[in-house]
Amino acid sequence: MLNRLNDQAGTAKNIYHQLKHASVKKAAQILEDLNQKLGKCSPDEILQWGYNCFGEQMVIGTGFGLSGIVILDWVHKLNLPVTVFYLDTNQLFPETYQLKEKIRERYQFRIESVQPELTLDEQAQKFGEELWRADPDKCCYLRKVQPLEKYLSGKKAWVTGVRRSQADTREQTEVIEWDPENCVVKINPLARWSDSLVWNYIEKNKLPYNPLHDHGYPAIGCVPCTVPVDSGADQRSGRWENLEKTECGIHIPSQKFNNGRA
Ligand code: SF4
Repeated sequence: MLNRLNDQAGTAKNIYHQLKHASVKKAAQILEDLNQKLGKCSPDEILQWGYNCFGEQMVIGTGFGLSGIVILDWVHKLNLPVTVFYLDTNQLFPETYQLKEKIRERYQFRIESVQPELTLDEQAQKFGEELWRADPDKCCYLRKVQPLEKYLSGKKAWVTGVRRSQADTREQTEVIEWDPENCVVKINPLARWSDSLVWNYIEKNKLPYNPLHDHGYPAIGCVPCTVPVDSGADQRSGRWENLEKTECGIHIPSQKFNNGRA
């Protein structure tokens, strides 16, 4: 399958340009075609396809969750010279920062820390103490969405660990999407992977993972906005507890795609 896709490399190299400038209808056709082909591929084939298309303008985003660890292991096995980045809200758990260092040592990746414009003190001075309580959407915008927009400016593709089984809001996730907010191709190599597939891969390959997962935290974000959940509860129910909010805003559903075009 990958050979066949690589045979189309001439076309593939133009994917970014085509998606950026196509009408909504045409872009939807291109994406459907790509997902029909790539949906049958393994994560390593998808990552290799991405690198063949976008080279070093493809970056790997991770929050060091379970899916991200699996993707980083594939990137290492494929020896892809791509940049790994994470959004450092300055509010991550100590265990997450420790895991980042473990990953850096194990794989020798260069991991870029993407920082918000404002420090926590500056944010408190400008918008009040504990903005994550008063206005979590604004806090996520300042500490995640806006820094990501800046970071992805000029890039062509962004690899994420988003999977359909993580939440209702993610069940339409496709392997290849267009991210209209950041004007990049979004590649989700594990979109169709179940939780058990991810865990099996981690255990079989003896990968490091965040120890908080063993203490009731299926999805781990910022300290003030993440709590443990009961066994079997929705994976993202521990994020922004008691609020309807379940997403920080960097993963908007693909069906919202219109990019202001007809
Ligand atoms: S998860 Fe919470 S602390 Fe982190 S950026 Fe969003 S609102 Fe702020």
